[in-house]
Amino acid sequence: MYNGEKNKKILTLGECRGPYSVAFSITSKCNFNCRHCYNNSGENIYEDLNDLELVEVTEQICELNPMSVCLCGGEPLIRGKIVYDIVKRLASNCGIVNLVTNGSTINENVLEELKVSGINTIQISLDGDRPFLHDNIRLKQGAFDMAINAIRLSVEKGFRVAVSCCPSKLNKDSIEGLCKLVKDLGVNELRLMPLILMGRGENMSNLRLEADEYLLLQQRLEILKKKYQDGCFTVSWGDPLDHLFRMPQNTKNNMSSYSMEIRSDGKLSVSTYLPIVVGDVRIHSLKEYWEAGYKDIWGNEKVRQYIDSLYSTNQFNSFKPKPYQGEDIEINLIV
Ligand code: SF4
Repeated sequence: MYNGEKNKKILTLGECRGPYSVAFSITSKCNFNCRHCYNNSGENIYEDLNDLELVEVTEQICELNPMSVCLCGGEPLIRGKIVYDIVKRLASNCGIVNLVTNGSTINENVLEELKVSGINTIQISLDGDRPFLHDNIRLKQGAFDMAINAIRLSVEKGFRVAVSCCPSKLNKDSIEGLCKLVKDLGVNELRLMPLILMGRGENMSNLRLEADEYLLLQQRLEILKKKYQDGCFTVSWGDPLDHLFRMPQNTKNNMSSYSMEIRSDGKLSVSTYLPIVVGDVRIHSLKEYWEAGYKDIWGNEKVRQYIDSLYSTNQFNSFKPKPYQGEDIEINLIV
């Protein structure tokens, strides 16, 4: 497969010798303090990798040559200029590079730097079609206007733009309005995902949709897809439990792991949603961990035991230990 814009060869899944994708959290800090933040961003439980270490890990990612890299956090853009250096290096040595942001620090200069560096998709969160819905969840007055401004500028700059949203009892009736709003703004994808009762989201169970409301939402989504989807715009639903069940099955079929997850403190985790860490990029390289067993991590006995007891996202707030609270299960792939 070729990326037409850069005429660069992008590996297909079958051609990858390492993970197909890498999620790299480059900070746990955030200028927001959202009520539903699943990884407690902004609470500074962990010490972020410093700039030199970020560059070192970036080189480790390049060595694995994944097809896609997602920079996330916290709010990645508050790391400042080092972000552009990282993106440049990744964009020249890996496939596509995506950025997840709350949009609050985006302006024309930031977008120009990101464009030159080689970002492909910018994902911006938006929790409804009007300020009250978004600002209420984000606990920030003006957050809605910031997100809309960031979306508008990113589209104008020619980025592929995705908008993410967690439907809840607050905003469930505004999903069509949101769909229409972002499509009119020129967004390429609306990504909906369930509210995860994890991190600060643990206290949101009163806003989480009930099973019958989820069913209704799924039916509505099918209608929205028919009504709004076209060659330039898609509506998608992301189930955070899906990969937890799919990946062990892949392992049984002799397929390698699909992705690697690097936390902002350099810990290598199995999944964003699991309290299991298997290494530290400050000690060994990603390639060493990959070869030492990460590529078959979903077949690991301890990982399987944890997953086998999960069957619903409702359980995330009752399971112990919990991720992002400094009490992870440690599995040492390299002893
Ligand atoms: S949800 Fe995103 S914007 Fe909100 S506190 Fe967490 S990382 Fe920051």
